[in-house]
This record gives sequence, structure tokens and C-alpha cells, in this order.
Amino acid sequence: MREAFGKRIGDFQHNAFKLADMATEVELGRNFLETLVAEYVKGDNITTRVSMAKAWLGEMVNRVAYQAVQLHGGYGYMDEYRISRIYKDVRALSILAGTTEIMRLIIARSLGLKP
Ligand SMILES: Cc1cc2nc3c(=O)[nH]c(=O)nc-3n(C[C@H](O)[C@H](O)[C@H](O)COP(=O)(O)OP(=O)(O)OC[C@H]3O[C@@H](n4cnc5c(N)ncnc54)[C@H](O)[C@@H]3O)c2cc1C
Repeated sequence: MREAFGKRIGDFQHNAFKLADMATEVELGRNFLETLVAEYVKGDNITTRVSMAKAWLGEMVNRVAYQAVQLHGGYGYMDEYRISRIYKDVRALSILAGTTEIMRLIIARSLGLKP
């Protein structure tokens, strides 16, 4: 792992907490997704919750990738590094197959709202 000021980057408390939050968000997303897959296989109607998952997961992976690039410093921005490619690729996830805004419309309508 990269070091700065004689310490591993991840051992600075700010970064350690950041990584802890990132790991927690990924874990929450994975659990949500796996639950929805199981419900879909059972034949449940998951339309609204899939919209919630599409919206939240698409934004979450962008938050996590942004922080991951930041933790890599300048290397994170270079095409030679995998994180740079991941950062670019995840950007599409809040756009394709229905944008986050359209997912929010579906969720809001399921709540009886008329945006
Ligand atoms: C990598 C990639 C792969 C894709 N693959 C496919 C594919 O295989 N098949 C396919 O059919 N399409 C595909 N698409 C297209 C994708 O589904 C559309 O880009 C997406 O649905 C958004 O539509 P749009 O680009 O027309 O954006 P627009 O609808 O023009 O939206 C532009 C912006 O306005 C916002 N907006 C639009 N309407 C509202 C509203 N009512 N309220 C609030 N905000 C709104 C959007 O959220 C967005 O931020 C792909 C796109 C990408 C980026």
C-alpha cells in the first residue's frame, strides 16, 4: 500500500474511517441486491424496490469510486491504473437503463406522489 509521511495511506484515521464507510456501503448494496434477486426468483413484485436499488446502488458506486480515486492520489487519475477505469465505468450506471432521476420518479409515484 502507498505510504505518505512514513505511514500507510489507509492508516491515517481519516482514510481508515473513509474506507470503513465505503466497505459498509458496498456491503449494504450487496445485501439489498441479493435480497431482491431472491425475491424476484420467488416471483414477488419488486418493481419499486428495484428502482430504489438502481437509484441507490448507481449513486453509491460513484461515491465509492470517487473516494477510491482520491485515496490513490495522482495515480488514481492515470489510465494505467485499474481504479481510473472503474471510476469511468461506474459513471454510466446512474444513467443507463433509466437514470437515477427516473428511478426517483417511479419510487415517488409508488408513494402516491405526482411529481
Ligand atoms: C453506457 C450506456 C449503455 C446504454 N445501453 C443501452 C442499451 O443497451 N439499450 C438502450 O435502449 N439504451 C441504452 N442506453 C441509453 C440509456 O438507457 C439512456 O441514456 C438513459 O435511459 C437516459 O436517457 P437519455 O440519454 O435520453 O437522457 P435524457 O432522458 O435526455 O435525460 C437527460 C437528463 O434529464 C433527466 N431527466 C429526464 N427526464 C426527467 C424527468 N421527467 N424528471 C427529472 N429528470 C429528468 C435525466 O435524469 C438526465 O439527468 C445506454 C446508455 C449508456 C450511457
